[in-house]
Amino acid sequence: MYDIVIENGRLITGTGNPWFYGDVALAGEEIAQVGRLADAEAARRIDAAGCYVSPGFIDGHSHSDLFIFVDPKAEQKVMQGVTTENVGMDGMSVAPIEEKDVANWRTHLSGLAGNPSIDWKWRSFADYLDAIDQLRTSDNISSYVGLGTIRLKVMGMTDRDANAQEIEAMRSLAVEAMQEGARGVSSGLIYPPSQYQTLEEVVAICEMVRNYDGVYDVHLRSEGDGLIAGMEEVIEIGRRSGIPIVVTHHKAMGRRNWGRSEETLRMVDDARREGIDVTLEQYPYTAASTMLHAVIPPWYHAQGPHKLVDDLKNDREKIKKDIRDRTDWENWASNNGWENIVVSSVGSEKNKQYEGKNVSEIAAMRGQADPADAAMDLLAEEDLNVGMVIFCMDEADVTRIMTHQTVSIITDGLLGGKPHPRVYGSFPRVLGHYVREKGVLGLEEAVRKMTSAPAQKLRLKSKGLLASGMDADITVFRAATVIDRATYDDPRQFSPGIEWVVVNGQVVVEDGRHTGVRPGRTVRSR
Ligand SMILES: [Zn+2]
Repeated sequence: MYDIVIENGRLITGTGNPWFYGDVALAGEEIAQVGRLADAEAARRIDAAGCYVSPGFIDGHSHSDLFIFVDPKAEQKVMQGVTTENVGMDGMSVAPIEEKDVANWRTHLSGLAGNPSIDWKWRSFADYLDAIDQLRTSDNISSYVGLGTIRLKVMGMTDRDANAQEIEAMRSLAVEAMQEGARGVSSGLIYPPSQYQTLEEVVAICEMVRNYDGVYDVHLRSEGDGLIAGMEEVIEIGRRSGIPIVVTHHKAMGRRNWGRSEETLRMVDDARREGIDVTLEQYPYTAASTMLHAVIPPWYHAQGPHKLVDDLKNDREKIKKDIRDRTDWENWASNNGWENIVVSSVGSEKNKQYEGKNVSEIAAMRGQADPADAAMDLLAEEDLNVGMVIFCMDEADVTRIMTHQTVSIITDGLLGGKPHPRVYGSFPRVLGHYVREKGVLGLEEAVRKMTSAPAQKLRLKSKGLLASGMDADITVFRAATVIDRATYDDPRQFSPGIEWVVVNGQVVVEDGRHTGVRPGRTVRSR
């Protein structure tokens, strides 16, 4: 007697193999049988006729670190078929952290992770995972430990090089987090303080992390004018440390760099031929999204968020000049234009009117001649709690990257305000728009990029495949109707066609509606 049998569906195993007709039997939290199971007895039968049945989707890049405490039902994720999401991205996990650093780190991350009024009671990495387990979530959560977070703990926000002792301390902290369940380490080489790390510093830490089967997940030092050098740097990190490299949200940013994905994909192929394990991740859109304070050069962040806010008010002309003149950093405003930077979220009520407006429009609304002033006023007024969406990519690069064998699909979803639609629509958009409407990928290949490919990268050994003994995380979707409804203007839209979602053997989405159950848990590496 099984708990659930999902019958009459077309099964896509996650391997990339073609679909076949069959049933899937679940017992407790595991997949018990896959095949023709007409006689099987079950407490519950789910009719998947006309649907595809696949392993639950895995979102390798999530910014739900804090919002999961506000919405443990994780609706944005499970309603698009995601059963496991991975946080601690871009060098910025919320643990381990010391009490004295909490206030500043909250402020620093607020434009990305939000600043919900929750108690940061955790200190160690394990404490944080325990807090999520106590919360009880609808999907499963895994996490990297951020190299920026580790550096903050050892050195604060300073932008100087680390000495030997400090590198040793960071290596120990990384190992500790790995032993407590991290899937690997993440870097955001445009985000302070992760950005202040040299290649040598990262290599020294990654050499240790590799020994614990961890990976190095990285937001490149540049995805625009410095894209090729950025790729060379992380490939070199892989060459020297032996760690697997996951290049996250791969893109070619800024009009003059469009088309350069041809070169970067060649670099990945060459590196792999050489024996360096480099893979890619992608969200399926031509706009990026991050915190607005990334438009301020990194050297203004080195004394912490309060000094930065102070400089935004009192030393503004110098900052404006650096944004205009200096090209030795990921200069969002000058590379893409203020008119292509849209404010997606603000912390306070009084500035909500600016959500969904680009910075040039906001300047006009405020009667300011220079959009830079509008951006800086907003950052100062909001104590940095501002998110942005940046229109910066070419569709030809997006589709070219998507077809690369190593690419897996992510949301990279920010959750506040009027967010980038990717947080609601990434997975259905690939299945509906890129597979069905445009034929960029085959269906089974797309599902592989959402299941076994991310599971392999994250070392989620019991996830990502429809096979007996694997975790009972299942997504049932209708290939004829699945599509993203979330748009830039109206992003908070669930996607039709995601019919059933099962997490750890329990039904979380039933006939396209969230059931409210919360069977998720943290997935720890040991
Ligand atoms: Zn991210």
